[in-house]
Amino acid sequence: MCGIVGFVGKQACTSILVNALRKLEYRGYDSAGIAIFEGERIKTVKAQGKISEGLEAKLKTEPIFHATCGIGHTRWATHGEPSDVNSHPIGNGRVSIVHNGIIENYREIKAFLTSKGYGFESETDTETVAKLLDYYYEGDPMEAIEKALEDIQGAYALGIIFREHKNKIYAVRKDSPLIVGKGDGESYIASDVTAILEHTREYYCLERGEIAVLDERGIHFTDMHGEPIEKELQTATWDVESAQKGGYEHFMLKEIHEQPEAVKNTLSPRVKDGLPDFSECGLTAEKLREYKHIFIVGCGSAMHSGMVGKYLIEDLARTPVIVDIASEFRYRNPLVSSGDLVVIVSQSGETADTLEALKLSKAKGADTLAVVNVVGSSIAREADMVIYTNAGPEISVCSTKAYAVQVAFMYLLAFEVAYSRGKIDEEECKRLTAGLLAVPEKIQMCLDDMSGYQFVASKIFNADSLLYIGRGLDNALSMEGSLKLKEISYIHSEAYAAGELKHGTISLIEDGTPVIVAATQSALFEKTLSNVRSVKSRGAKVVMICRESEAIDANCADYKVGLPDAEDLFLPLISVVAMQLIAYYTAVQRGCDVDKPRNLAKSVTVE
Ligand code: GLU
Repeated sequence: MCGIVGFVGKQACTSILVNALRKLEYRGYDSAGIAIFEGERIKTVKAQGKISEGLEAKLKTEPIFHATCGIGHTRWATHGEPSDVNSHPIGNGRVSIVHNGIIENYREIKAFLTSKGYGFESETDTETVAKLLDYYYEGDPMEAIEKALEDIQGAYALGIIFREHKNKIYAVRKDSPLIVGKGDGESYIASDVTAILEHTREYYCLERGEIAVLDERGIHFTDMHGEPIEKELQTATWDVESAQKGGYEHFMLKEIHEQPEAVKNTLSPRVKDGLPDFSECGLTAEKLREYKHIFIVGCGSAMHSGMVGKYLIEDLARTPVIVDIASEFRYRNPLVSSGDLVVIVSQSGETADTLEALKLSKAKGADTLAVVNVVGSSIAREADMVIYTNAGPEISVCSTKAYAVQVAFMYLLAFEVAYSRGKIDEEECKRLTAGLLAVPEKIQMCLDDMSGYQFVASKIFNADSLLYIGRGLDNALSMEGSLKLKEISYIHSEAYAAGELKHGTISLIEDGTPVIVAATQSALFEKTLSNVRSVKSRGAKVVMICRESEAIDANCADYKVGLPDAEDLFLPLISVVAMQLIAYYTAVQRGCDVDKPRNLAKSVTVE
């Protein structure tokens, strides 16, 4: 999820590796380390914290060696707290690896290796890969890599070195990115081209399932079975800034595009045999069956994800859910007590009001479940149980992928509550879970063509004010759509339950007022359409977000944003992408600073 680098050549590599890691700092990380060939052994130096304070400070205390090959890593923890021992590179002296991503079946691999006598020092999923490589290694690195890759499931990019194969780097990827740089008599690996731009602009993109072997003589590529392959050399034309954004104009756009992978990373580790499984954090089916009340508490987008959770849990599990804004919850002596579950949602895990809401819930005797993105954050440490959303670092202040993964988790939670309470049977729970696992593909379909969102943005960017309306799940979604637009485009907007408009807010509609309508729920479609007609007849400019297959007549809506076909239940998680992109392109057309909107901070650590 964060940064990998590697170097082999004739120059001393320590400072090359550290400088390359520094170039990847923008991606966010919690620890850093390097492993280099020093004489006949692999030497590893790694430390929690910033590169300058941790890794570099440690390196200053070490004797200097003239190593010419090594690998390096900036870690963004997913399994195990940020700490020296959990930092990468990870290995056992014979093999050392750096890893980005998540190994989904690390528990099974760990159990297998433990039965073979292996011990584990770190809490990471990564260590299981290092030890598995060691287990399979009998002198031929390629054979060990091929065998290990057959066993591991999940997302990964790996840089690997073997003590007995001095000055050689093996690199492989599936899902997480990795490039291989070609310099003059030297070669590199890196998570993105930013890390190596000062040395070379020539690189290869490693594709899924390809293995690269780098040594002093050059680079060669094979497929998973060791068959040689030819690859095309690319030339980076980007400057450092655009390379950091992966070629996207803004981090927000990049992060919107990362959503299919982020959602997959949230869901897949929590699905076992086709059913939701939260046993990793101690949230068992028995507990979920017994809780008297479920509360979901957060701020901003995190609270909106709770709104989606409320609709889903109440509908599927027939259990009341109370959603609250953390700053309100903490000051109104909430009716929380022992026997209740309080789900605390925060991207950073440091949101001050949310942290206080968590402490209050614990003091009142409730069980607390943190849903956070940053491993080892205050909320994660304080809560009784933790679900890490695995979205990867989010740099844009305006949250997109971190919200989508919170919502994805709410679906899985709703299925598990419903199943544990006997409201749905195993077959239905499996069917729903399979439907949810297919959502990333549908999100990808929404991302494949941007023209519709740009067009809608061009029609609304001059507005002074606009409304978002929807019913049911679409109402919850509209709140997030409206917040995105406000945050980054500075256009005033409000989200309203479509049926509630006529009780006052409809008076705001004037000739040309844009109204964005989320209409993904078949059972409520006609009802929503009648609300649409009433705003249209008062002059509103209507944008409908609905299934592509829905025939909308021009008297009803001015523009349609079509969504891929999916079961009603899942469409809100898909259509949020449309909401985000409409907000994004509107802000771009207004010339706003999309990644750093005025008056806002990424992590709100003050009350
Ligand atoms: N899952 C690994 C860990 O927690 C890798 C994290 C990363 O991609 O930085 O150590």
